[in-house]
Amino acid sequence: MTMQTHATGTARATGQRGKTMLVRHADVLVTMDGERRELRDGGLYIEDNRIVAVGRTAELPDTADEILDMTGHLVIPGLVNTHHHMYQSLTRAIPEAQNAELFGWLTNLYKVWANLTPEMIGISTLTAMAELLLSGCTTSSDHLYIYPNGSRLDDSIAAARRIGMRFHASRGSMSVGQKDGGLPPDSVVESEADILKDTQRLIETYHDEGRYAMLRVVVAPCSPFSVSHDLMRESAALARHYGVSLHTHLAENVNDIAYSREKFGMTPAEYAENLGWVGRDVWHAHCVQLDDAGIGLFARTGTGVAHCPCSNMRLASGIAPVKKMRLAGVPVGLGVDGSASNDGAQMVAEVRQALLLQRVGFGPDAMTAREALEIATLGGAKVLNRDDIGALAPGMAADFVSFDLRQPLFAGAQHDPVAALVFCAPSQVSTSVIGGKVVVKDGVLTTVDLGPVIERHNSLAKSLYESAA
Ligand SMILES: [Zn+2]
Repeated sequence: MTMQTHATGTARATGQRGKTMLVRHADVLVTMDGERRELRDGGLYIEDNRIVAVGRTAELPDTADEILDMTGHLVIPGLVNTHHHMYQSLTRAIPEAQNAELFGWLTNLYKVWANLTPEMIGISTLTAMAELLLSGCTTSSDHLYIYPNGSRLDDSIAAARRIGMRFHASRGSMSVGQKDGGLPPDSVVESEADILKDTQRLIETYHDEGRYAMLRVVVAPCSPFSVSHDLMRESAALARHYGVSLHTHLAENVNDIAYSREKFGMTPAEYAENLGWVGRDVWHAHCVQLDDAGIGLFARTGTGVAHCPCSNMRLASGIAPVKKMRLAGVPVGLGVDGSASNDGAQMVAEVRQALLLQRVGFGPDAMTAREALEIATLGGAKVLNRDDIGALAPGMAADFVSFDLRQPLFAGAQHDPVAALVFCAPSQVSTSVIGGKVVVKDGVLTTVDLGPVIERHNSLAKSLYESAA
């Protein structure tokens, strides 16, 4: 490790150029740039972790340190996942939580999650990230809000570094247990002083505010029904002191609205405004039941929304008014949400579901395939308050994925491969590059040997489930 650091320093000191990568001959390359160009026989020229040139193959340099031939492939910017609880990939399809709505679902799962360990957090984060990476995601946030038995956000961060994913690690928290009128059992809540102290430690240890940051820390109390007003306010003050983003759950379903009206005498959007939880540095998960006044507030303040269509369907929470939000100017990104309320963390599948669900709710013109892709790339970047990811253009991070258009699931759709990616059955990627590093090659993860990880994951999941029996 020391030698590697020294070598990099020497290369910089002597003015050598960075490692270069040439991507060429993509059947179609989707840029998501200002003109939304889609280039036939497209390619990229990359230096180190950033894109230097985008164009048709003939316009790009002929050679580089590494060359990726994308013949037969669609290339798109890496997808951005704005909401997840990766530890929940240990508790998929739990029988007691299969058929409940949000509050009943949570109550059944809290007692299982109370037995999580640091190893479980690390392994489940690796598994969840592998699933995301193989389905086109290159940047993900994760909202970890339960820290039993010595678990720490550091366990997730170590996993992200190992697998090579761009990561927004959200320090979640719960402080209002059942004895104080909250939903979670008292055994899984933390003191507010401890929460704020640990959040500050994490920001100071890990947060990278620089362009092309691979790791950012987010301040993220779990939800208005599991923390106090004070913690919401103090979290906002802490986040703004350090210039980091804020994230929580908001207006997820009708019970959530009823709780907010009864407990706080306000709608969730009014409560958020009252606490200082609006602005370009804030994004809220779900917002299925955000009312017109809330949509106006979010649009005026640039407050973001993580839309999670599969989770909203799984828990019968409703259909988020995404079309209305976007027309009003609210930044909207996509989220797979936790694996216990979606059971799948397939980003391309989530893009497809976003399109289908808007159409069920609001008609066939409620969302196009290209709009769904835009939400999952540029939309997600904006929600995470970044301008260096979500598009393939000079100066942007070198984050892209490719899909092999010669698979049976794309047969017959070659006239429009971009729409095919969203309309046809969800595909796995064949290539994923993050910050100029190849993380998936020929459909296989290059950074982690997945077999033993999944084996361990399944063994831990079994013991976790049995521990709550
Ligand atoms: Zn969630």
